[in-house]
Amino acid sequence: MELLQEYIRKNGKAVNEHVLKVDSFLNHQVDPMLMEKIGEEFYRYFKKYPITKVLTVETSGIAPALFCALKFNVPMVFIKKNVPSTMNDFYTAEVHSFTKNKTYTICLSKEYINENDHILFIDDFLANGQAFLGVEKIIKEAKASLEGVGMVIEKSFQEGHSLIENKGYDIYSLARVASLGENKISFVGEK
Ligand code: 5GP
Repeated sequence: MELLQEYIRKNGKAVNEHVLKVDSFLNHQVDPMLMEKIGEEFYRYFKKYPITKVLTVETSGIAPALFCALKFNVPMVFIKKNVPSTMNDFYTAEVHSFTKNKTYTICLSKEYINENDHILFIDDFLANGQAFLGVEKIIKEAKASLEGVGMVIEKSFQEGHSLIENKGYDIYSLARVASLGENKISFVGEK
């Protein structure tokens, strides 16, 4: 998605060779005009599937997932990053965070997913695919169908993309970062 690449070129900062900071439009401040376009692009690509729910993980997946759900006219459900004391019937999975280097428990109430659901999973970043594996486990336990995986930014030099593709899922990333350098962010397919 050319517009997203422009945003990343203009506003993204490579913290080091492995981590990209995009706090000005996705991970802290959120640009609603860009999120709307992102939602439209995911819809254009995934509308071939009978999606009943758009699933994401809090916090930064919520904005793109919500705009996407609006296009599909279905609910957006965000998986929580801890187990709330008010919830008693839920699915959980352990996820190792690449950026924080710690393991946490993700949690989804059984009320908001069931075997009739056709899920589109949307997230802000794809690195090693650890969050994806936790979400996939929950979807399988709920006996729902995972139809597609949409990532806003993928770091293609990490293993997440091939992990998801090798499992046979339809994965679509809007920006595919090939490498991160001090003053240069390059994208897959760029000369
Ligand atoms: P994964 O689960 O694919 O290993 O890592 C993806 C998650 O880690 C994303 O949801 C995001 O929260 C975080 N993450 C991984 N790499 C980056 C990065 O380069 N920049 C930012 N802002 N978040 C990242």
